[in-house]
Amino acid sequence: MTLRTFKKGVHPHDHKTRTASLPVEDVPIPQLLRIPVSQHLGKPAVPVKQRGDEVMPGELLCDADGFVSARVHSPVHGKIKKIVQQPLPAGRMSDYIEIAVNVEETQAHQWQRREVDLNALDRDTVVEGIRDAGIVGMGGATFPTHVKFSPPSTAEIDTLVINGVECEPYLTCDHRLMLERTAELLEAVRILNRGFGFKRILFGIESNKPDAIAAVSRAAAEIPDTPIEIVPLKVKYPQGAEKMLIYAACGRTVPAGKLPLEIGVIVANVFTLVAIEDWFFWGKPLIDRVITVSGDGIKTARNLRAPIGTPFEDLVEACGGFNGDVAKVLVGGPMMGVALPTLDYSLTKGSSGLLFLTQAEVPAESPCIRCARCVDACPMNLMPLKLAAYAKAQKFVEARQHNLNDCFECGSCAYVCPSRIKLVAWIRYAKNYVRVHKL
Ligand code: SF4
Ligand code: SF4
Repeated sequence: MTLRTFKKGVHPHDHKTRTASLPVEDVPIPQLLRIPVSQHLGKPAVPVKQRGDEVMPGELLCDADGFVSARVHSPVHGKIKKIVQQPLPAGRMSDYIEIAVNVEETQAHQWQRREVDLNALDRDTVVEGIRDAGIVGMGGATFPTHVKFSPPSTAEIDTLVINGVECEPYLTCDHRLMLERTAELLEAVRILNRGFGFKRILFGIESNKPDAIAAVSRAAAEIPDTPIEIVPLKVKYPQGAEKMLIYAACGRTVPAGKLPLEIGVIVANVFTLVAIEDWFFWGKPLIDRVITVSGDGIKTARNLRAPIGTPFEDLVEACGGFNGDVAKVLVGGPMMGVALPTLDYSLTKGSSGLLFLTQAEVPAESPCIRCARCVDACPMNLMPLKLAAYAKAQKFVEARQHNLNDCFECGSCAYVCPSRIKLVAWIRYAKNYVRVHKL
């Protein structure tokens, strides 16, 4: 089997064996949900419900505010208790809609499958459906999917790249979806192909998931009307990043500052595809997701499906509580995830992992020894040590001049750094400063 890949990159220990073979399980329905109105890149959605309103599963809670925004729906039967302001994991403030859940009625709710005439779909109806369902990039980027699938009329899109890479250590939720919802994934591919008539559909999966490669290959062989090719990839981080994956899968390079659609490519994560199938065949908007809860600091690591808005405390409880002292809590993976100061957050559309790491999994920092390993590892050819030094010295203009904004926070530099310097945290700090102060 020929394995393709991108240039540079790193090989972190994947820590996936703990959960890779564990089927997805549903959490008990929570008594209370806290649903942020801002779970995506772009403008926060606008609430269309108020305190005291009764809501049903799938009912619209918030409408998109403009084109680059995404709808938010209720995952449950319940009553809106209040709307409060709280920080999101990345630090920005957001309104949260708190719903007191009617657990019994929610449990009794059944989604009804509906007939879909694929021949009646065209690009507009496909994109409209994606927008109506509130679907965003589920790999963590949370860019509204309808925007990604609305290229300018001048763009000639010929290739869909499906992201089944899941290169972040610890995370296995995409892997499980490729095994457990293979047929639905392929149904979504057919829907997208009706709208776009791709010349090529390349499904990238790393070779450490041979069962997923086999399952998707078998299912793809049954839909001969779709030009789909499974592309086994070398195991390397950050291959799941769009630009790296596009190069690995089809050998095209996205120039700095450009978007994939400018070279004719759209990338979609496997979870995003499952959400598309859920909407078109079941009328179910994006109201729940699978998350990997793992790390040495949690008693029983699991892949859990939970309603959007589930408090993280409920996920911890579903995993049997903590296992000894937890030194660090991360939402997302250890490379690109965000450290949480408390557990007072809830599941959002972009939460792919919740990690509880012990001290042994979080090594201490020491001074820079100028080894340049961070420079060698950076897939964007940046100088991470320099960017971090500028950030520490508050020299944001200089950081910008050294292409600060090309950093997509993959964490490869911090991973290879023998001094364990928090390079990404400093770079993220500088990027936020540059953005807020419009430097
Ligand atoms: S500087 Fe940014 S893009 Fe480069 S390795 Fe570090 S985190 Fe990744
Ligand atoms: S890898 Fe770490 S120690 Fe080496 S130059 Fe970069 S920041 Fe300094």
